[in-house]
Amino acid sequence: MTVVVVGAGILGASVAYHLACRDVPVTLVERGPGPAAGVTADSFAWIGGTAGGEWPGGAGDLRHAVLADWRRLEREVPGVAVRRTGSLTWPVPYGPDGPADRRFDNRLPEGRHTIGRAAIQTLEPRFRTPPGAAVHTPSDAGVDPVAVTAALVRAARARGARVGYGAADTVLRTDNGRVTGVGTAAGFHPASVVVLAAGTGVTELAAPLGVGLPVTGSPARLLRLAAPPGLVRSVVAGPDFEVREVSEGRLLLTHPTADDETAVARFRSAFDGECRVLGSRVGVRPVPEGGPLIGPLTPDGSAYLAVAHSAVTLAPTVGRLVAAELATGQAAPELNRCRFPRT
Ligand SMILES: Cc1cc2nc3c(=O)[nH]c(=O)nc-3n(C[C@H](O)[C@H](O)[C@H](O)COP(=O)(O)OP(=O)(O)OC[C@H]3O[C@@H](n4cnc5c(N)ncnc54)[C@H](O)[C@@H]3O)c2cc1C
Repeated sequence: MTVVVVGAGILGASVAYHLACRDVPVTLVERGPGPAAGVTADSFAWIGGTAGGEWPGGAGDLRHAVLADWRRLEREVPGVAVRRTGSLTWPVPYGPDGPADRRFDNRLPEGRHTIGRAAIQTLEPRFRTPPGAAVHTPSDAGVDPVAVTAALVRAARARGARVGYGAADTVLRTDNGRVTGVGTAAGFHPASVVVLAAGTGVTELAAPLGVGLPVTGSPARLLRLAAPPGLVRSVVAGPDFEVREVSEGRLLLTHPTADDETAVARFRSAFDGECRVLGSRVGVRPVPEGGPLIGPLTPDGSAYLAVAHSAVTLAPTVGRLVAAELATGQAAPELNRCRFPRT
């Protein structure tokens, strides 16, 4: 069996890496000039909700494996580093944003706690304007999504995967309804299975198969800031902005509604330290209706779909399960609720 994976974002890179680990011949085809050319480069990359919360559809069945899979990847792949910082989110999802009280904890999943202002300030000593209460999730974490994606591609290559960047005009080639490979401007890549891991690009790729995928693109803005190392220690996520340190002295900041200037001004008045804006970009997140869509796309399995929101969080687990399904032919029950069409 040979597999072509279309898309070298974090999801496609993870699928290719896990296939290569199983000695499956795999080619990763990417239209960008290198890894993480799509929305992965603009991700806040919070490994979030690790102790529960909103996990749409079949993502809920993958949640329990996420932290263990990230630990495993850290051991296996040089260059994969997880920052285990925990997260602080507010307002707390019930009651007024008043002094925290452990009596609320019975409404939270295990592993999440309400904490008050003093405890928030212990965790974030340079936070000048902490809320009265926040939900603390110590198990939450984050990564540098570009570094991780590049590391996965390197590791896949080291295990024999082939990688083609700058692949223009990628189309699925078919013969009597069966997908036989991927055509690009540079040539044809034959495959027994083509994995569509192209983020928002999956709808266009799948269209010639006569399949309308329920995947929309949802824009979100990400700013990069230079700041004193350790200015922000955890994932700090309030109504005005979400911020985390992605690498020493480099922050990622995302905000839901305000313009960049307002969001940065709010951050500057909230945290005690100088920061400088390095850049701001809008990324378009693939959002499959009802949760991740992972599994055979055609009845013969020659096309296979892998698309998810929060795919940074899910990538190690999805990559492992997809590679296992393709290599063994055994359906992974954890993916039952991720199939297309939904049953
Ligand atoms: C501001 C922001 C914050 C976010 N925060 C988080 C977060 O905290 N946690 C989290 O888990 N997720 C978060 N996300 C979402 C997360 O970034 C995405 O779910 C994830 O990056 C999707 O990865 P992907 O590999 O599926 O897609 P992509 O990274 O888009 O990769 C798809 C690749 O396919 C390529 N491609 C597309 N079409 C073709 C084609 N026809 N031929 C060849 N190549 C093609 C693209 O160039 C691209 O490189 C956030 C996103 C944004 C924008």
